[in-house]
Amino acid sequence: MLPDSIRQLPKAELHVHLEGAIQPATVCTLTARHRVTTAESEVRRRYNYTDFVGFLDAFKWVTSFLRDSADYALITHNLCEELLRHRVVYAEVTLSVGVMLLRNQSPERNFAAILRAAEDFESRGLTLRWIFDAVRQFGPDAAMRVVQSAKNCASSRIVAFGIGGDELSIPTKDFLPVYAAASAAGLHRLIHAGEIGGPERIREAVEILRVERVGHGIAAIQDPSLMDLLADCRIPLEICPISNVRTGALARQLDRNRVTLQDHPLPQLLRHGIPIVLSTDDPAMFHTDLSGEYAAAEQMGLSESELRQLAAASFAHAFDFSSARSL
Ligand SMILES: [Zn+2]
Repeated sequence: MLPDSIRQLPKAELHVHLEGAIQPATVCTLTARHRVTTAESEVRRRYNYTDFVGFLDAFKWVTSFLRDSADYALITHNLCEELLRHRVVYAEVTLSVGVMLLRNQSPERNFAAILRAAEDFESRGLTLRWIFDAVRQFGPDAAMRVVQSAKNCASSRIVAFGIGGDELSIPTKDFLPVYAAASAAGLHRLIHAGEIGGPERIREAVEILRVERVGHGIAAIQDPSLMDLLADCRIPLEICPISNVRTGALARQLDRNRVTLQDHPLPQLLRHGIPIVLSTDDPAMFHTDLSGEYAAAEQMGLSESELRQLAAASFAHAFDFSSARSL
């Protein structure tokens, strides 16, 4: 059982996708807005996967009901309520701008609505910052348009550029010009790597793209020299244990049919000295929340002081926490 002293600690959440945080009831509200009747039971059925492709299909389905800026405002509001319930005071939320552009939406208009929705929560002690995320399999040109959208939005609340999606699809080096443009625009550099891909994906992201944190990165456990590199260079892994179990990513990394939380490499990575930020990834789609992730870490055998260390690391590796605190 997670001690109350840990549950009550203020925390930062650094790897959470806005579109993966849409609770089933809210999905039904969205579909109804767009004249599609969906039962909550159907959403719950779709929120169950046996592999990573199944998860990506569900992500595509749910985001197909994000059709205008009011939809984005609604899901931002609901995410903020959820974060506050779990003592999150600061979050860097990933926004799939690549998907907005694919659907010919205006990221500028959607983001303005998102900012307005999030603003209401500042007075309640929750500060949000944003990560504009491209979809890897859409390619470097589409990713460059995501960077351009961030520039168009011209908001100090956008702190980073990242890439998610199918990490096996396109070579890492093809994105180098995109990351150079993101850096020139003043954005921090992130990527999902070593989730379903091997440790070489993480190494490339660090050595070629100079990323400052790695989304997931659980494949690092297969490569001791990479673990040393991450520890020595103080490059955090954004670890999302329940996501890794539910997408099949952990089973794939360990080459097993079945895995449990006890098989997760979080304790070894942490005790190797790699900075770890514990996160939820897509909380609604993985039936989790930040308290649940801390409980999972406790089940893996982390001590109370290690759990406190994780909560402190979530602030230490945030990109804009100190300026947010001075607001
Ligand atoms: Zn993610």
